[in-house]
Amino acid sequence: MNTNAFALRHIGPNEEDKKQMLDTIGVASLEQLISETLPDDIRLKKELNLDAPMTEHEYLLHIHDLSKKNKAYKTYIGLGYHPTILPAVIQRNILENPGWYTAYTPYQAEIAQGRLEALLNFQTMVTDLTGMEIANASLLDESTAAAEAMGLLFAVRDRSQKKNNINKFFVSENILPQTLSVLQTRATPIGVELVIGKEDRFDFSSDFFGALLQYPGKNGQITDIKTFISKGITANIKVAVAADILSLVKLESPGKFGAHVVVGTTQRFGIPMGYGGPHAAFFATKEAYKRDLPGRIIGVTKDMDGKRALRMALQTREQHIKRDKATSNICTAQVLLAVMAGTYAVYHGPKGLQFIADKIHNKTSELAKAIAKLGFNQVNTSFFDTLQIKTDSKKIKRIAKEKKVNLRYPDKETVTISINETTGIRDINYLITVFAEAAGKDTITLNSIAEHHNIPESLQRHSKFLSMEVFNSHHSETGLMRYIKSLERKDLSLNQSMISLGSCTMKLNAAAEMMPLSWFKWGNIHPFAPNKQAQGYLTVLKALEDQLSEITGFAATSLQPNSGAQGEYAGLMVIKAYHESRNEAHRNICLIPASAHGTNPASAVMAGMKVVVTKSTDEGNIDVEDLREKAILHKENLSCIMVTYPSTHGVYESAIKEITKIIHDNGGQVYMDGANMNAQVGLTNPGSIGADVCHLNLHKTFAIPHGGGGPGVGPICVAKQLAPFLPGNPVKKTGGQKAITAISAAPFGSALACLISYGYIKMLGTEGLTECTRTAILNANYIKTRLQGSFETLYSGERGRAAHEMIVDCRPFKAHGIEVSDIAKRLIDYGFHAPTVSFPVAGTLMIEPTESENKAEIDRFCDALISIKKEIDRTSLDAPNNVLKNAPHTMSMLTADEWHFPYSRETAAFPLDYLKDNKFWPTVRRVNDAYGDRNLMCTCAPIEAYMEA
Ligand SMILES: *Cc1c(COP(=O)(O)O)cnc(C)c1O
Repeated sequence: MNTNAFALRHIGPNEEDKKQMLDTIGVASLEQLISETLPDDIRLKKELNLDAPMTEHEYLLHIHDLSKKNKAYKTYIGLGYHPTILPAVIQRNILENPGWYTAYTPYQAEIAQGRLEALLNFQTMVTDLTGMEIANASLLDESTAAAEAMGLLFAVRDRSQKKNNINKFFVSENILPQTLSVLQTRATPIGVELVIGKEDRFDFSSDFFGALLQYPGKNGQITDIKTFISKGITANIKVAVAADILSLVKLESPGKFGAHVVVGTTQRFGIPMGYGGPHAAFFATKEAYKRDLPGRIIGVTKDMDGKRALRMALQTREQHIKRDKATSNICTAQVLLAVMAGTYAVYHGPKGLQFIADKIHNKTSELAKAIAKLGFNQVNTSFFDTLQIKTDSKKIKRIAKEKKVNLRYPDKETVTISINETTGIRDINYLITVFAEAAGKDTITLNSIAEHHNIPESLQRHSKFLSMEVFNSHHSETGLMRYIKSLERKDLSLNQSMISLGSCTMKLNAAAEMMPLSWFKWGNIHPFAPNKQAQGYLTVLKALEDQLSEITGFAATSLQPNSGAQGEYAGLMVIKAYHESRNEAHRNICLIPASAHGTNPASAVMAGMKVVVTKSTDEGNIDVEDLREKAILHKENLSCIMVTYPSTHGVYESAIKEITKIIHDNGGQVYMDGANMNAQVGLTNPGSIGADVCHLNLHKTFAIPHGGGGPGVGPICVAKQLAPFLPGNPVKKTGGQKAITAISAAPFGSALACLISYGYIKMLGTEGLTECTRTAILNANYIKTRLQGSFETLYSGERGRAAHEMIVDCRPFKAHGIEVSDIAKRLIDYGFHAPTVSFPVAGTLMIEPTESENKAEIDRFCDALISIKKEIDRTSLDAPNNVLKNAPHTMSMLTADEWHFPYSRETAAFPLDYLKDNKFWPTVRRVNDAYGDRNLMCTCAPIEAYMEA
């Protein structure tokens, strides 16, 4: 046996563990357990056809070889992506640190204060630079953020606009092309009409509900947003601005001029281009629109002792609660990248950002002068970092290519050049040689860079930014390293203990999968770089598409969606395009089982579909008769069903093939939510079950870390008939023959993160992947058996087996006055992150151990839950001052001179022995959500700042 095989490193239980666990469950073999779990008729008849597995070492050599096929030319393409300098202290202490990248979305606020603080910094940075009142904790990319801005402005139309169905939205022709494409995708299904034109010719007397400007414009000219916004306000047209965040250091903030929404990307704040992502977009708006703000918002509140504490605010807006009435379908966002960008601002501070922005602007200005001196016509009258030259672009392109620099050539007579943080004076001199050669003149060599102001007086920034202490404290490496560590220590991640979040698949994110993300030749490729320079990426991405198509049993894959929810939307839009291509555009009914994840109905509504909810049976399965009835009733207009498999109840429903047949018989397509793919890989697949399209959450099943709530990658895999419609990109050709317009900004979404999943599959191979699935099922069923007598599993398969996860019922404990949240909080005292709380059934926990946890860890977790059950037994309704209600217990509470509780300190802190060796301390007591929502505060400004306002 190769004891160094990656499968042995990735999969938790060893052979001995497995034997004991099977014994406990009471089955003779793993195969017996699997055959009692999966219905026979869906088992794959033949093995997946994937490459033989590599060891970690072999993989790192392989991926290093491939990286050499990428050519990291000096890149001045711009269009929302720029070379950056990621400070090494942030790279090493955040990006490469499992304490940060393996964390889950901060639902359990008490053990997430560190990343919540880092996200509050991000929000503060965004509100300050944009001049807005409130910002969220990131969105997926600038283009989807712009689409969300359009959606928000549409939703907050005034009464008369709604009554008169004012649905026109103006988009400046200076908008980034990829943003325009995403807006086109998003507008029609929600009933918005886009009108594209020149902002300086806009007729404010016509009926529009909103407008979107790019600041500065895509070719670098600075847009006079001040005049436009003020006219817009007079005409009752609300204005969104897509702004370059670094330029806002020098340009007055859109908020100051009265903008209603400001969006953009924070990629320039130290995040590698990574061939398109992941990067954190931002979304800032007015306080008045807080309930319509998409995505997660971090807010300040207090804990049980009145101490300041942070948590996710206003969650009632989200799809988990509002479902088809949600403000957006955003679930996973870009937390890790937002943390990095926010920390970049902490590291540089206002003076550092000013220095960087000035440097860029001055170099751009010197370049402009030199190019003009050589006789070229540089047409931007004001600019931050981008020049626009009217000349024979073909000629420039040929010379630039020889000299290995990437400029942008929007048309035959235009060249643009975007300068960035990495550009040195030598680079400027080198750029000048391109134009000198084209002009047939001697080049001009600059020896120094003077100060310049090519920004109109009326748009120069006068408002201060980042004056808060945190942005003015940690500018040395020692200082920042310790600040990052102080935050990290507040958070529980996978490097502490298992995180058994049902539906979220918190498995190992192996170091070998992560390492290439730091490599220069993967980080430094612009998404619109010529294919010849991106051969490493194109090879990996094509291979990953093929791997995923093979695994799902489908014909083609698109890696473009940046999250599971975006995958849902993409899949539904592809289905819609398919129906339209058959002259069946009227098909718009989407059946969704009651137990579905909240993103499903939210995505269906965004895709312009009408949601019809189907019932579940008492056993938690889809009620097939109800489904049949509704499918037949809507036969003429049925578009599709959205179904999760195994179900969100943790069961492989045996009727699944019948369900897919019913839908097909009635003219619909089957959308499979692939969030539970970890229970399918190698054993069955959506294609063979009869689905037509599924999304995968590569940040669940395929080992991309959750990053505290993103990045995500949500590719869609489709059957043959849907392949022609896979999404495209307006700048770089991608997608199907009849591609729908863009879903995300970048052609391949978050390409850099895709390396992780590629490595995961490459190192596991067919047998390894299949063994992961089997072991995930084994681990879940072992937990189910061990918890018997303490916790009842709510649903199981026909032969009593759980799938890869299970729901345990905590509702009976209400008789003791104990809620499921009390158990979740008490688990913190035991050093564990709670499983998924109250999804898909209120008052329950959904446990998913994944294959990466070994028997010892799972036993510890089960011991903790069983111990908690005993604690519950000792509580009663009339004694609410108990160890569960008061959980979690902090160190300051336990070491205080006074102790008022009817149980000992030891019971509170060390209920089981293992805790004495390895105790995780939460830094706040239970947080008060309601208080924070009533007194919403979403920046790290001191309280006084709010009182003044
Ligand atoms: C996680 C999940 C989603 C949403 O995926 P995101 O990447 O968070 O957008 C959808 N459906 C199910 C069942 C999920 O578990």
